[in-house]
Amino acid sequence: MTKSLFIQGGQIIDPSQGIEAIGNLLITEGKISWLGKGKETPPQPDYDILNAKGLIVCPGFIDLHCHLRQPGDEEKETIATGTRAAARGGFTTICCMPNTSPPLDNQTAIEFIKSKSASEGVVRVLPIGCISKGRKGEELSEMGELASVGVIAFSDDGEPVLSSYLMRQALDYSRAFDLPIIDHCEEKALTEGGQMNEGVISTRLGLRGIPSAAEEIAIARDLALAELTGGRLHIAHVSTEGSVELIRRAKDKGIKVTAEVTPHHLTLTEERVLGYDTNAKVNPPLRTKQDIKALIQGLNDNTIDIIATDHAPHTEADKLCEFDLAPFGISSLETALGSLMGLVHSGEISLVTLITKLTHEPARIIGNRYGGLGTLAIGAPADVTIFDPNLEWVVEPKDFASKGKNTPFAGETLKGRVMATIYGGNLAYKDENIKIKEK
Ligand SMILES: [Zn+2]
Repeated sequence: MTKSLFIQGGQIIDPSQGIEAIGNLLITEGKISWLGKGKETPPQPDYDILNAKGLIVCPGFIDLHCHLRQPGDEEKETIATGTRAAARGGFTTICCMPNTSPPLDNQTAIEFIKSKSASEGVVRVLPIGCISKGRKGEELSEMGELASVGVIAFSDDGEPVLSSYLMRQALDYSRAFDLPIIDHCEEKALTEGGQMNEGVISTRLGLRGIPSAAEEIAIARDLALAELTGGRLHIAHVSTEGSVELIRRAKDKGIKVTAEVTPHHLTLTEERVLGYDTNAKVNPPLRTKQDIKALIQGLNDNTIDIIATDHAPHTEADKLCEFDLAPFGISSLETALGSLMGLVHSGEISLVTLITKLTHEPARIIGNRYGGLGTLAIGAPADVTIFDPNLEWVVEPKDFASKGKNTPFAGETLKGRVMATIYGGNLAYKDENIKIKEK
């Protein structure tokens, strides 16, 4: 029997149970075994102590959207490095997109992810299966087979589902498994060759723009198809004011839609591209202040359900080139909390809202098949994130556990840092300043 761990004196925030109080938490045999407010201590005396005074203690973060690059692009990331990056970022569950090579469009590929993450990963990895065979957008994948081996959603992310007919079929068929269809909404006819947000800055830089309409047209189509079929639609990386409005109206109508926003779309504008920083090249592109305002409003009124990283690691060589040639993507697992805490410190979102969007809400989208995620309820898996909301630190990409050092936050000071991440009762990450005392 492993020794229990007593997390003492932290500010416990668990939106799933409406808990927001200074208190203590006990972990036994990989599960949450006891929770007490104030100075209450558990009856069981034999435990190690982690002093969490001044720190936030919350359910482990869940990322519904990341790219682990394995199999096929192991020079960019692997399950081993990606899950370590996740742990450093406070994530205990990450859902990996199937745009690997080969893509995750069959049972064997999903089994590979599951066994690799069990043997080499340090946090939980939940796979997402392809919508179409080979991500070619032509023919549905064997969705039933994929569902039977535990995918939590279907997506051809990286690319949109171009055929409305295929999207209709996918939404229709997915109802049998009650799993969401995640679409990367992009009207390709409007984005061909696009490099950044379309506007004054793209004109000034001489870069081809990607208009907001490219995203909004695709979202409007998907919402119409979700309404037609009654299927569950999840919209990836929402980036524009118009998209937020479309989703808000669809929710009012009762359409089954959920939506996510990334940390970078909430915190960075298109101005980051001035100077041609390829690390600010992302798809959908960084937008405007007005879009950010609408995205934050969408988070606050629950039009946008969750925050997901869209962690997209690339090698240095990939990004060390002309802007036009660089691939899209930001390595974001390790800066997510620090950058998002900026919105809490400025009063734009509350700490509880932030934690809800990283824990309870993504757990609701995943559903019950993995049981008790995103909560500190007694008996739930002991997935716990402990962070200092006020600690300032400088982003040094060379210190990332991720192989992807591609971040527009390099050299920036962020306020808010993960101090420890506990996955299934084990420490997946611990800052050197966190000491565990044997009792
Ligand atoms: Zn995408």
